[in-house]
Amino acid sequence: MQTELQQKNNAHHFQPFSDNKTLAEKGPRIITKAEGVYFYDSAGNKFLDGMAGLWCVNIGYGRKELCDAAAEQMRELPYYNLFFQTTTTPATELAAKIASLAPDHMNKVFFTGSGSEANDTNFRMVRRYWDLKGKPDKKIFISRKNAYHGSTVAAASLGGMGYMHEQGDLPIEGIVHIDQPYWFGEGDGLSPEEFGIKAAQSLEAKILEIGEDKIGAFIAEPFQGAGGVIIPPATYWPEIKRILAKYDILFILDEVISGFGRTGEWFAAQTFDLKPDLMTIAKGLSSGYVPIGGVIVSDKVAQVLIEEGGDFNHGFTYSGHPVAAKVALTNINILDEEGIIKQVKAESSPYLQKRWQELADHPIVGEARGLGMVAAIELVRDKVTKERLEPESKGGGVCRDFAINNGLVMRPCGDTMIISPPLVINEKEIDELIEKAKITLDQTAAHYQIG
Ligand SMILES: *Cc1c(COP(=O)(O)O)cnc(C)c1O
Repeated sequence: MQTELQQKNNAHHFQPFSDNKTLAEKGPRIITKAEGVYFYDSAGNKFLDGMAGLWCVNIGYGRKELCDAAAEQMRELPYYNLFFQTTTTPATELAAKIASLAPDHMNKVFFTGSGSEANDTNFRMVRRYWDLKGKPDKKIFISRKNAYHGSTVAAASLGGMGYMHEQGDLPIEGIVHIDQPYWFGEGDGLSPEEFGIKAAQSLEAKILEIGEDKIGAFIAEPFQGAGGVIIPPATYWPEIKRILAKYDILFILDEVISGFGRTGEWFAAQTFDLKPDLMTIAKGLSSGYVPIGGVIVSDKVAQVLIEEGGDFNHGFTYSGHPVAAKVALTNINILDEEGIIKQVKAESSPYLQKRWQELADHPIVGEARGLGMVAAIELVRDKVTKERLEPESKGGGVCRDFAINNGLVMRPCGDTMIISPPLVINEKEIDELIEKAKITLDQTAAHYQIG
C-alpha cells in the first residue's frame, strides 16, 4: 500500500533519470531529513550516504552556518541579477574567493545555475574565443566516450553517454568522441601504463584526422565520475599534456565532481598538474545546499573574451544568485577554515583507500580502485576472464538493492559500484561503509551462487 504522498508523486511528478512507470508501481522512497553523512526516509530507515547526494554534499548534511547564510541573505537581498553592469556582494566575493583557490593562471569566474549550464557556457565561450581570434573554423569539440558533462543539449552532446544520445538525436553537430582511459574494461591485454598512453594518443589521432584548424577544444573530466569513477592510468594525463602543448586548441577541465576537495586538493587540476583554459564547477561549490555552478576562466581566454570581446551575449537569470553565492562562499570558507580538504588529503582519504582495497580480495570483485574520496569496484563472476555477473550489467542493480537494504548508498554504473562520500566522513563511518559493502558483496555473491 503506497502512502498518500507516494500516490501524489505517481500522479504528478515526472522525475529525472527514472523509469517513471516502474517507479510508480514501487512508489518512490521519500527522503525526509539528513545529518552529517546520514539521511533518513519517511519509513524511518537510516542510510549512510556513500554518494554525498549526487557527488555534491562535500561538507556533509546539517551545517547550520549555511542555513543561516541563506536566511540572512534572503532578508537582506533575496535576488538581484548580474546583467547590465550590476553585481551583488556575495557574487563578487565568491568570484574572488574561487580565483584565490584556483590555479594561478585562472582569475575570472562566470556564474551559472548548474554544471550543465556551465558546460553550455563553455561551448559558447570556446566558439566566441575562436571567432574573436579570427579563426571561425575552429568550432569542433573533442570529448570522450562515456564522459558526463550534464544534461542540457550541448552538455549531453559533449558527454559521451550512448543512452542519453539515443534520446533526442544527440550529439549535436560539431562534437566528436574519442576513447576513454578505462583500463579495466578496455585495456585489452596492455599494462595500465601502455594503455594510458594508447588512450591519450587517440586525442592526437583525432586532431590529425580532423585538422587542428577545425578544432576548438578538448573537454574532459580529471577522472570520469558518472562513467564509473574511471581513474586514468598514471601515464594518461602526462601524454595528454604533451599533445595539448603541441596543438593550438583549448582545454576544458570539467571539475564539477572533482572540484572543492574531492581529490584532496581544491581542484584536480592541482592533483594531476593540469593547466586548463576553462574549468567547469558546480556540485561541491555549494555542497549541494543550493544550486550554483560556473566556469573558471584562464587569463589567456579572459584576455580575448573580455579585453577584446565587447558584450558577451550570454547569461542566466540566476547566474550567481545572491543567496546561492552567499551559501557557496560560506561553504568554501568552512572547508578552508576547518581544514577539511587538508584532512581529506592527510588522513581520511588514505584511510578510505586502504580499507577499500580490502574489497579487492572478494570473489566477485575484479578490481578495486580509488582516488581521494571516490572509489569503485568492478563486479565480476570470474576474476581472470572478467566475465560479468549477468548480461546487460544487471548485477550492478542487484548489488545496489542489497546495499540499500543494508543502509548504504552505493551506486551502480553498469557493473561498477561506486562511492563518493561526504568529505567529512570519519574513520568510524568509513569502517561502517566498508563493513556494509562487504556484507553487500557477500549477499550479491550468494545471490549468484559464487564463492
Ligand atoms: C553532475 C555533472 C555535471 C552536470 O551538473 P548539473 O549541475 O547536474 O547540471 C557536469 N559535469 C560533471 C562531471 C558532472 O558530474
